[in-house]
Amino acid sequence: MLDADFFCRWMTVAANAMERQAEFLTELDSAIGDADHGTNMRRGFAAVTAALDKEAPQTPGAVLALAGKQLISTVGGASGPLYGTLLRRTGKELGDAPAVSAEELTQAFTAGVEAVARLGGAAAGDKTMLDALLPAAEALGMSFDAAEYAARSGALATVPLQARKGRASYLGERSIGHPDPGAMSALFLVAALAAVAAAEGEGA
Ligand code: ADP
Ligand code: MG
Repeated sequence: MLDADFFCRWMTVAANAMERQAEFLTELDSAIGDADHGTNMRRGFAAVTAALDKEAPQTPGAVLALAGKQLISTVGGASGPLYGTLLRRTGKELGDAPAVSAEELTQAFTAGVEAVARLGGAAAGDKTMLDALLPAAEALGMSFDAAEYAARSGALATVPLQARKGRASYLGERSIGHPDPGAMSALFLVAALAAVAAAEGEGA
């Protein structure tokens, strides 16, 4: 079972990854956006870990609700409300149980990803974070490692796509040939989940 501590560690490992990869994410965003995605993710996730340290929420749902709230309030770019919605909606689905199963997380995460699609009006193939999140949610039912693999494949598969949503869509055909920054940060978020699950010996 996955408890509040597991979810806090997920957020901490994700924050470390965003910090380490901030320059890379910003470089990707400089090719097809406005060169702020790494800064946005670093700032947002630093606020998440600071809030978790301070408030020490006691359930998985409360951890993700607080994390999502921080992303929405500290990230100015499109990615803040989108990732914030992902975590808040996932947290809401988990309710106030002290611990949840991998199956419950899969269902909740799927609802979270659907909420991102509704908020941003994007679908698979639009060259957004959803191209990593949708396959990850589907593969999470199999295993955490499968979710990471699916997110990585999905993120890399954005390279030949033309962006149809967000800032990169203003570039039209010139958005082709670059990975989507948000799909790459979504991979880092899912990879952080898989890393924490592997460290815990959570196979599912
Ligand atoms: P901004 O585009 O406002 O500068 P960021 O650079 O932080 O914000 O985030 C850009 C990323 O957000 C994109 O690479 C894409 O993955 C994601 N994104 C943008 N618009 C949408 C949308 N409508 N739906 C889903 N994801 C989106
Ligand atoms: Mg940007």
